[in-house]
Amino acid sequence: SMLEIRNLVKEYKAKGGVAVRALDGVSLQFAETGMVFLLGKSGSGKSTLLNLCGGLDTPDEGEIIIKGRSSKDFTQADFDSYRNTFIGFIFQEYNVLDEFSVEDNIALALELQGKNKNREQVLAILRQVEMEAFASRKPNTLSGGQKQRVAIARALVKNPEIIMADEPTGALDSNTGKQVFDTLKKLSESKLVIVVSHDREFAEIYGDRIIELKDGKIISDVSKSHVEARKTSENLRFIGDNTVSVQNGAALTDADMRNIRDFLTRSQGNVFITNGAKEITDFRKAAHIDENDARETFLDTKEQPALPAYDPANAKFIRSRLPARHAIRIGASSMKLKPIRLLFTILLSLVAFTMFGLFSTFTFYNEKDVLYNTYLTSGYDTIRFEKQYNYVTVTYENGEETYRSSYVNTERTPFTPEELNQLQKTYGDGLGIFDYSTDGNSYNSMSISNTYASKQQYYVSTLYGFAELPADYSRWQDLLVTDTDLAALGDKDVVISTYLFDSLKESGLQDNDGKKIPLNAYQDIVGKTLQISTSGSNLEVTVKGVFRYDLPQEFDDLKENSSNDYSLQDKFSKTLRNGIYLTPLVSPAFYEANKTAAASAQTYFETAYLETPLTIAFQNDGNEESAQYSGLAAYNAATKENVHLVGGRTTLAEDEIVLDVYRAFNVLGYLLFESFDKSDFDPVLHDFNNCMNILQNGTYWDYETQNTVAASAAVREQAFALFDALYQAAVDTGESNVSLTVIDPAGNTSTFTLAGFYFNYSNSDPIFAQSTFDSLVASFGFENSRWEKETNYVVPADAKYCAAVFSFPSDTRLLRSAVDGSNVVAEDDSFYILASPLSDSVSQATDMLQSLQTIFMWVGIVMAVFSMLLLFNFISVSITNKKKEIGILRAVGARSADVFKIFFSESAIISGICFVLAMIATFVTCFFLNQTFMDMIGASILVFGPISWLILFGIAAVTSFIATFLPVLSIARKKPVESIRAL
Ligand code: ADP
Ligand code: MG
Repeated sequence: SMLEIRNLVKEYKAKGGVAVRALDGVSLQFAETGMVFLLGKSGSGKSTLLNLCGGLDTPDEGEIIIKGRSSKDFTQADFDSYRNTFIGFIFQEYNVLDEFSVEDNIALALELQGKNKNREQVLAILRQVEMEAFASRKPNTLSGGQKQRVAIARALVKNPEIIMADEPTGALDSNTGKQVFDTLKKLSESKLVIVVSHDREFAEIYGDRIIELKDGKIISDVSKSHVEARKTSENLRFIGDNTVSVQNGAALTDADMRNIRDFLTRSQGNVFITNGAKEITDFRKAAHIDENDARETFLDTKEQPALPAYDPANAKFIRSRLPARHAIRIGASSMKLKPIRLLFTILLSLVAFTMFGLFSTFTFYNEKDVLYNTYLTSGYDTIRFEKQYNYVTVTYENGEETYRSSYVNTERTPFTPEELNQLQKTYGDGLGIFDYSTDGNSYNSMSISNTYASKQQYYVSTLYGFAELPADYSRWQDLLVTDTDLAALGDKDVVISTYLFDSLKESGLQDNDGKKIPLNAYQDIVGKTLQISTSGSNLEVTVKGVFRYDLPQEFDDLKENSSNDYSLQDKFSKTLRNGIYLTPLVSPAFYEANKTAAASAQTYFETAYLETPLTIAFQNDGNEESAQYSGLAAYNAATKENVHLVGGRTTLAEDEIVLDVYRAFNVLGYLLFESFDKSDFDPVLHDFNNCMNILQNGTYWDYETQNTVAASAAVREQAFALFDALYQAAVDTGESNVSLTVIDPAGNTSTFTLAGFYFNYSNSDPIFAQSTFDSLVASFGFENSRWEKETNYVVPADAKYCAAVFSFPSDTRLLRSAVDGSNVVAEDDSFYILASPLSDSVSQATDMLQSLQTIFMWVGIVMAVFSMLLLFNFISVSITNKKKEIGILRAVGARSADVFKIFFSESAIISGICFVLAMIATFVTCFFLNQTFMDMIGASILVFGPISWLILFGIAAVTSFIATFLPVLSIARKKPVESIRAL
């Protein structure tokens, strides 16, 4: 037979754990055609049997044999295909898809079989169920009966060999129900129609076979048979023993009338005579009389040996294939359900994706490319190399390493002549800049002191070092605007830039007598002296010429003193610092000749922090006073710290002490100062406080003008002499004013003599001779904590150029190699940088990008997780809302893959929208960031390119896949019957 079931068993585990045997070993064979009714009370197992037969559910035991193929070999996909190929399902609840028109509902079943939508075919099917006129209507505009007929049409369109209907008329009134049964009956002429019903009357009228179930078992299985009517004449037929049929339009003979009279006598029944056509049809049905006037009665279904056998090889299954556009349509329809949640999901994903978009864009940012490009368009005529090295700070306590900083510090360091030479070989004849500073952290600031202060920020009369001319200085010779021979530059001669000339002209240069030198033409400054004061001492140089070197016009705004464009000011100071505006050209002999005079190098006293504070007691005007010090320093004549020892001495004895200027004066005493004859000294020194202040920092309070005023150098010198004289007076009194008592932790005292004072020094700890320092530190115990720079770099002894300045390379490859080589750390931890406002800005931009990148990454990840959860939730909700559709589709024959398709379409639409919006958002953000960078460094630096698009796309795809896969997996894995049961 086409369909056979053998020994089907199905048990359900109820919630309480009690197993219900819904089907208990049912075996049946079905013929090719005919209408089979499954009859039985509610709960008898009818639906279970039908579902198993239709492959909506799988049996616990037994098998289904379809055209010779046994379900024992079926996978879930095979069950789906079996249904898709052979079975048309009709349910009680009609179950048509509401978002599809009547026509499309039917076409969908066709398409699920991989067949093309054929409108003619669809309309023909609708005609069969008399629904052609409603083809383009939406199901919710139809009545129940009409919907059920649509459902029948949908079952039919696949041209299935079997139609299964579970209580198809259960929700219909009896008249409409009859129409449905009529339709099914007609179909059963060419198909096997299996109908579940609990209505015995209908079963007997329409059924060719009635199988009755009780408690999961077949209790009767009967087939309709026809008992021929007894014909007494052409006019009369006697059907069974209680019905007589009179031929339509017949004129009854006397014999006929006799036969009727006999029949009535025999049957003793009531007589019902009618000629209404309708009533006759109804009567026939009610009385089970077929159109040939044969009496229908049900007899036990016999084994049907005549049923043909099937070769399983010929039972071809068709796998369902839900066309993408339907999947999208169904998927998209549920997006309307929760608009607010959808909006949130989209917004959150949009932010997440945009973060990732920016993150990936930043990943492709290449600092070197950007630097190179900005240099190319900078219009600079020089490039400047500076050298730096990396170090890590390590702290030691009592010789043990206790802390190592996790970050790398960078410090300036000079180039050696050899290094300058190497650079010159590559980049041409450039200038070696030196500023006599050996302290990597600070520039040696050199101000030109014989000028007045400029009132405009544009004009600056400070030097940032000197530029040593190379062997071939023709380029610089060409730039001269004065009649100067660079070959004849002496070792105290300089050639200044036109910018510096302008500055000096604006500020006003003074001659040795303090008179203003008129500067009109460049030549006017030739031969004039510049007094250069460094933090070390003073240097006098002679200007021998001027070379053309002007500031870019963009800084002209700073000539208006009111300018508060801080970014311009910042760029201005960097431009001055990195250019050669303030570095006069000098001959190679200059460096050595002025080294001592200009050097600012400071070596500091060795200092120590004491565990126990040191107490110093002294007499101040007859009163015992004391001071506590937590640290001390060791005297070293080689340092350039400001120490004054009485009598011009340069060594300190073991029992001598140096205090800060204020304490030293207090030790000598105010009373002594007052009684001292100060007539030889300038009147401002007659005031105790002014005297101390002049020594400390060179200023005093002018009581007349109520102002702090700088003392002249002469007055300052007098102040030192006054201190010495006062000191001598104290010694002469013999009152030991200059004696101090140092008390050690054990309470022992030792006496020290004041030997001088120090000034202009931020520390106020006392200074001792080295040996005293060592023994005091030993007895007081000191916090032996010091830090060291740990680095492979050692400053070479001959290192002297803090920068090297070259003509801007005309060969772009040279520029590129300069850019590429910059910031590449060598084995000795050193590297060179290209110093310019540009590289500062570019590295600022890089820093900014790097921190933004990290932020974007983390925000992106967090947002992505949240948006994934939201999408997960959103898809879960639409799955809940789509259970019905899924059930219908599964019943019609859709596979789990088709279910996936629906929800992947949905999430693909959502994440597609997010992707597109994120693309736009990333583009816009990059655009604005680029504008910012354009202001910062004069170049746009972010390119949101195809690879970033791909990355963004990938992230959108992956997040939506994960968020969709999990919720859909559970629904797609469900047996179709579970989805349908949810209907
Ligand atoms: P019918 O269609 O004849 O009303 P069913 O086939 O639906 O009967 O049910 C047969 C028996 O199996 C009933 O006792 C019913 O309670 C039980 N049953 C059906 N489906 C389930 C299920 N999913 N879980 C538990 N019990 C079920
Ligand atoms: Mg049922």
